[in-house]
Amino acid sequence: MTSFRTLDDLGEVRGKRALVRVDLNVPMADLEVTDDTRLRATLPTVTELADKGAIVLLLAHFGRPKGEKRPDMSLSLVTRAYSEVLGRPVRFVGDCQGENAAANVADMQPGDVAILENTRFHAGEEKNDPALAKAMAALGDLYVNDAFSAAHRAHASTEGLAHLLPAYAGRAMEAELKALEKALGEPERPVAAVVGGAKVSSKLEVLRHLVTKVDHLIIGGGMANTFLAARGIDVGKSLCEHELAPTALEILEAADQANCTVHLPYDVVVSTQFAANPSSLRTCNVHEVAADEMILDIGPAAVEALADVLKTCRTLVWNGPLGAFETPPFDRATVQLARTAAALTQAGQLVSVAGGGDTVAALNHAGVADGFTFVSTAGGAFLEWMEGKELPGVKALEAA
Ligand code: ADP
Ligand code: MG
Repeated sequence: MTSFRTLDDLGEVRGKRALVRVDLNVPMADLEVTDDTRLRATLPTVTELADKGAIVLLLAHFGRPKGEKRPDMSLSLVTRAYSEVLGRPVRFVGDCQGENAAANVADMQPGDVAILENTRFHAGEEKNDPALAKAMAALGDLYVNDAFSAAHRAHASTEGLAHLLPAYAGRAMEAELKALEKALGEPERPVAAVVGGAKVSSKLEVLRHLVTKVDHLIIGGGMANTFLAARGIDVGKSLCEHELAPTALEILEAADQANCTVHLPYDVVVSTQFAANPSSLRTCNVHEVAADEMILDIGPAAVEALADVLKTCRTLVWNGPLGAFETPPFDRATVQLARTAAALTQAGQLVSVAGGGDTVAALNHAGVADGFTFVSTAGGAFLEWMEGKELPGVKALEAA
């Protein structure tokens, strides 16, 4: 991994103004923050900087205002909740650049923390406009990026700024990059990847990249149906992208070339109804799916075989549930394999890294998110990393 500076490299920061890019894009209902996970993720960096006497100016986007000043997307709505999570007073500043913002932060003292208004109120943010980056840089002495989840976007606050001020990775960014490096950068082998979820089409690049990187590719979820169908198996009414059959075969061929073993389920859980605990429910061989049935989970024999595969591996990356886990009993395979992965991790046999919106929900549902080595909540950025792409926000830190 190319190196980047972290907070360990800061030197004396007392009285210096640190522009810190964080992820404050929290879900809201009735003007209240409904999940403060992202707020809590910023605490190590913000607390450390404030304790060292820096003047901490937080930069973040909130929703998709597309360059308009939208009161319903103002970060003023998040400031009180953030202050409570941080356990310190937090000032709100009504712009992330310009004279008013500068005047507003001028009297801040070492250790003070402020949230600057939504960076996306300026159209230049998403265009990575150098003029906006320059105007933001004028407010600070140094730049810290702690928002891995926004690092796949080359925006003014995630990329442009890193070139204008001394730039550092924050603690959450640092932990994420180290975990990802351990999983796919220079992993201990054998490496297994689990790729599940609804559709092959949303993860084509992930699959193409992984077959060149891992020893075992485990395909589950709706996407397994597309691969089974491509191999001539009748998947009945299952969610399936029949038109992607040639692509699926190409991926299987590429895996073969790269000595990557692809694991598709040989038994599945099927029903004629996509509903919780349906009256029609059976487990069968993949060759026995009836015309009116849907595959909604992979079967117990497959899960057992996959657990045996994981037991031979040293590293696991996981994105996507193995079945329609929100609808019981189609959560079984995901829960069981996740528990196996967590147990192997806790026994010191496996480094396990997982990510993806529904994947995180599924691991929480299985009660094993804490059992994994690292669980990324970064969504889009995590997937782009799994595609093998260089993330502009990370690259800018490495160049700095
Ligand atoms: P992530 O957000 O972790 O990247 P995805 O969004 O790709 O995951 O996929 C998650 C969705 O896939 C879940 O809503 C789950 O219900 C669905 N899914 C998994 N297996 C099946 C299946 N066999 N049939 C229909 N939907 C499925
Ligand atoms: Mg999803």
